[in-house]
Amino acid sequence: MNKYLLAVLMILLAATPSLAKVKVVTTLPWIGSIAKEIGRDNIEITTLIKPMQDPHFAEARPSMILAARKADILMYNGLELEIGYLPRIIESSNNPGIQPGRTGNLDCSQFITPMEKPSSFDRSMGDVHPLGNPHYHFSPKNILRVAEGMANALSGIDSGNADFYRSNLQLFKDRLAEKQRQWSSMPLKGKKYISYHKLFEYLAQENGFQILGYIEPKPGIPPSAGHIEEMIALIKKAKPNAIIATYVAGKKEAASLSLKTGARSVVLPHDVGATETAKDWFSLMDEVLKGLE
Ligand SMILES: [Zn+2]
Repeated sequence: MNKYLLAVLMILLAATPSLAKVKVVTTLPWIGSIAKEIGRDNIEITTLIKPMQDPHFAEARPSMILAARKADILMYNGLELEIGYLPRIIESSNNPGIQPGRTGNLDCSQFITPMEKPSSFDRSMGDVHPLGNPHYHFSPKNILRVAEGMANALSGIDSGNADFYRSNLQLFKDRLAEKQRQWSSMPLKGKKYISYHKLFEYLAQENGFQILGYIEPKPGIPPSAGHIEEMIALIKKAKPNAIIATYVAGKKEAASLSLKTGARSVVLPHDVGATETAKDWFSLMDEVLKGLE
């Protein structure tokens, strides 16, 4: 090969990004949404859980195992939210790259500090939050850390495009900062709610509103008649701004409590895609905060 050809070849090799997209498998829709912000067209995302599925009670399906088998990286919520199906999927995938401890196994909860962390492991009576509250996706502060973690993980797997992931992360941070200004100015401070599930604790902490009680006596446990009576008494006494449910959990119970007490009930999306307007994580936050307002 002459020197000229060699030089051309070197330039081509250096300039051509790898054409194969990084195969990202995420459990929950919001994780896919943040991954998309960082990976854009460089990644191909498969989301295992449907937007209208309750993430606490999902089961492993053959199609999920097939997706995991081909994954370069698996991104999941952690804090045992996926305990019912993910360990089986990882094991059955026969994909060494996504096994625990490998770079293709990304537990997004490692980047955040969980709220309500129990002093001892507690799954008594079927509590679905045994390691603390797993719903940190309603926290811009946590999402920022998760996005950074994702950018690092993608850069590790696809180092040739590390600059691309880093610049997307910066764009994401800028957009988040702008949105945060808007969100934190919404008048939620001091408002009080009753919620079906412990879903909005991170948001309550960051935006200064209060959740006085839960229709579920423990996360994942449907209320008894006695517990409902206690809730009716609490609502009548404390007069919350609203009773919150989601499209996948507590809609009926919230409506019935609303009828019995006169308190307003509001149904919110729990994840990206649960309503037509919650198209990505940003619009999910917009919709939830607007609903609370
Ligand atoms: Zn939960």
